[in-house]
Amino acid sequence: MKIVLLGAPGAGKGTQAKLICEYFNIPHISTGDIFRAQIKEKTALGIKAKEFIESGNLVPDDITVSIIKETLNQKQYNDGFLLDGFPRNIYQAKKLDLILVEKRQFIDKVFLIDVSKNIILERIAGRRFCGQCGASYHIKFNPSKYGDKCEVCGSILMHRYDDKENIVLDRLEIYNKSIQPIVSYYKQLGILQTIQGNADAKDIFYNICSFLKAV
Ligand SMILES: [Zn+2]
Repeated sequence: MKIVLLGAPGAGKGTQAKLICEYFNIPHISTGDIFRAQIKEKTALGIKAKEFIESGNLVPDDITVSIIKETLNQKQYNDGFLLDGFPRNIYQAKKLDLILVEKRQFIDKVFLIDVSKNIILERIAGRRFCGQCGASYHIKFNPSKYGDKCEVCGSILMHRYDDKENIVLDRLEIYNKSIQPIVSYYKQLGILQTIQGNADAKDIFYNICSFLKAV
């Protein structure tokens, strides 16, 4: 089973990716994880990607596509995978198809987890984390018992710059612009399934499963 998972930052993609991969026993390909691994191993692509990530830029499409291609050509991904964080734009989506065609493979299903802007804002802007021990909290959904201090180590909790409301709104706008053509593309291919994401993680997962049983 070969799946692509799409969704805005804060849509709950990570949670669903984990549930799907565990349940269906398929490997999870997260571009974030792959970049981190390649950078750690100091591969040629990793070294190139690092420059962009460290300067706060998006990794160019060609580098990302090469890294994904190298990954998908490994044996452990022959029988299935879940792609998370890729493709990010229509260019990458078409490149992905070419990579798979060479291997006589194709994507079975693309899930778009659809969550309204206000809910994403509430989810992300309320995040807090401890800079000392890494514990994470949410002012509404998972508050610290000690208010603005960490339950584990007592340090003052922090609000990530990326999680500030205006930054989140900017990220969402960029995301929406690049995702629309991908959504249309997969719709045309007849493999797109939009999943209502304003629900419990468990309910979202059941919903996704009901579409995967037919694959
Ligand atoms: Zn802490």
